[in-house]
Amino acid sequence: MFDWLIVGAGFAGSVLAERLAAERGDRVLVVDRRDHIAGNAFDHTDAAGVLIHRYGPHIFHTNSEQVFAYLSRFTAWRPYEHRVLAEVKRPVTGAAMQVPIPINLDTINRLYGLSLTEEAMQAWLAARAEPVAQIRTSEDVVVATVGRELYELFFRGYTRKQWALDPSELDKSVTARVPTRTNRDDRYFTDRFQAMPRDGYTAMFGRMLAHPNITVRTGLAFAEARQRSPFRRLIWTGPVDEYFGFRFGKLPYRSLRFRHETLDREWALPTGTVNHPDEATPYTRVSEYKWMTGQVHRKTSITYEYPSAEGDPYYPIPRPENAALYKRYEALADAEPDTWFVGRLATYRYYNMDQVVGQALATFERIQAQVPRVAARRVGTVG
Ligand code: FAD
Ligand code: UDP
Repeated sequence: MFDWLIVGAGFAGSVLAERLAAERGDRVLVVDRRDHIAGNAFDHTDAAGVLIHRYGPHIFHTNSEQVFAYLSRFTAWRPYEHRVLAEVKRPVTGAAMQVPIPINLDTINRLYGLSLTEEAMQAWLAARAEPVAQIRTSEDVVVATVGRELYELFFRGYTRKQWALDPSELDKSVTARVPTRTNRDDRYFTDRFQAMPRDGYTAMFGRMLAHPNITVRTGLAFAEARQRSPFRRLIWTGPVDEYFGFRFGKLPYRSLRFRHETLDREWALPTGTVNHPDEATPYTRVSEYKWMTGQVHRKTSITYEYPSAEGDPYYPIPRPENAALYKRYEALADAEPDTWFVGRLATYRYYNMDQVVGQALATFERIQAQVPRVAARRVGTVG
């Protein structure tokens, strides 16, 4: 008898497995229907020996000291600040050009052949920004800051490809992930902690799960695991609508197809990622792992991301009707006895890795407050 069955060996499932086993002495079975641990953060060396991320580039960044300290128990780090260029056509000449995204002072100066100062750029943007009475959508939030031309150049096509929705149909939180800056900071993220696990994500997960009280079964889905192994309580990190048999209909998730390529040269891209925001290019971005991992290799591996309706669920789609449908599932989840729903798919939140770790740690605290320790009870029974 396991004290817990945890469905999913990604961040949500693995953090909880580690906490329950290490802090409470609970016996935990972790299952994942994929043939590996680490969920979407899974990395491995490809045929050429280059460390790649199977589900697209994963760059760790957080402002949470608690999350960073927690993960630091299981990995050393390689400092890494991600930089992204967007390939766009210059408004006047139509010539292709790669410029920093998030939009910053250099983006504008290079694109328009200007030499604005920081203050001048603020005025330049203010003259182009469109007044929006109430900022609700992913279109509003961008046009209200940079105006329509830059919105169309950098955001409209990318977003339409990525989500199969116009930005006007998506919650503002989506494009608000990418800020606008009037300084020259060209980092994609500005978080306090930005680093990659030194030996990769999968190695870090391996250390988290290497506790004698944790059993890991990959290639095993929940439906089969529940038949085989008795358990007292359940932690679910898969899609919440799947757990409830799609009772209220499918919750929309967006998928991607990844095209991985190894090139017989040392470097492929001028930076970790190049975005392709134009609608004609079928992929959204290309990423080169050696920038992130620091690996030295005479070849290099890159990944193209093609948005897709079919495939594994990767992104919850933030818009009001989906939030309303999720609320109905959430009410079922809240009422489900002895079951906790944690993670990006189970709580239908567009969360980064650090937010999932934070959510899992908070869930552990709730469990500590609500669930008597089984190990203590066991000792009590024996005594
Ligand atoms: P997952 O990692 O999805 O784990 C859930 C696991 O549950 C899966 O492995 C799945 O196989 C398993 N499962 C589901 N149902 C069942 C079932 N019925 N039976 C058995 N197993 C089941 N975050 C960042 O912080 N930085 C980034 O740069 C970044 N880049 C990203 C790039 C892409 C392309 C994507 C898609 C995401 C990115 N993220 C990034 C987000 C990050 O992947 C997630 O925040 C994180 O992996 C979520 O962890 P999780 O445990 O909630 O879910
Ligand atoms: N986005 C965009 N153009 C870009 C980069 C991002 O329009 O060059 C929008 C797009 O809608 C994207 C969202 O901003 O889905 C969030 O971007 P982010 O890079 O955070 O996406 P993720 O890494 O989560 O896929």
